[in-house]
Amino acid sequence: MKQTALVTGSSRGIGRAIATALSREGWAVCINYIRQKDAAEQLVRQLQSEGHAAMAVQADVADRAAVEAMVRAAEATLGPIGLLVNNAGIAGQGLFQDETTEQWDRCMDVNLRGARNAIQAVLPHMLHEKRGCIVNISSMWGLRGASCEVTYSCTKAALVALTRSLALELAPSHIRVNCVAPGVIRTDMVTGLGQDTLDALTEQTPLGRLGTPEDIAHAVAFFASEKASFITGQVLTVDGGFIV
Ligand code: NAP
Repeated sequence: MKQTALVTGSSRGIGRAIATALSREGWAVCINYIRQKDAAEQLVRQLQSEGHAAMAVQADVADRAAVEAMVRAAEATLGPIGLLVNNAGIAGQGLFQDETTEQWDRCMDVNLRGARNAIQAVLPHMLHEKRGCIVNISSMWGLRGASCEVTYSCTKAALVALTRSLALELAPSHIRVNCVAPGVIRTDMVTGLGQDTLDALTEQTPLGRLGTPEDIAHAVAFFASEKASFITGQVLTVDGGFIV
């Protein structure tokens, strides 16, 4: 029986597509957002109109207490969390030399500490049940160097290490931990790069197009499914062949 899926940062972009796909696979979904309440609530209404259980909860994943409260709220309304997707993330371009300590800290706090906060909040139930699934959203820039995105790249590489180490630690408890590393995906996160850069990135992608949020959602839904029941500690790159 499927339980509740918590997808961090699911009001927009990749997280929204993941939440939608999981909902249609039968998961009750908790939609997390930080600012865009209207978008999150619109998604909840859409999923509910399709007959699925869903709720939206505001929480900054970097805030441990807020994440704990979100998990308790989701459990109370939708039921115990059996699937966590650590998707919330921020990016920023600039020379490493110019980066402020505040920028470094915020990127680490959202992308890495946020995943830790959410994992530690859902683990007690998963450990008690001796089952559960965690999917971390890294990036191809966590697997290869990214000029002018050094800190972002560091956080995404750390999510790969987190995935592999935690997978080993949690395997005896039958909790699987996997990772999806997207390539360039058409969302608000990359819109700011400008059309010329997006055209160049398309050209560098062997499959000749940028990814869609749904491309990532399919990979996450696979890891979350019974079809992946013997798969843990893995990183699936979904990038149109960009870093092959
Ligand atoms: P996006 O379009 O910028 O959406 C970000 C989502 O995360 C929004 O729902 C936002 O909520 C939420 N969010 C941001 N900071 C948060 C925080 N502190 N606490 C809770 N929620 C927060 O981003 P995206 O492109 O979908 O990216 C999703 C994930 O995929 C990120 O981890 C990103 O690093 C990764 N990724 C993206 C690409 C790409 O090309 N797009 C490539 C590789 C990896 P609000 O709507 O409330 O602001």
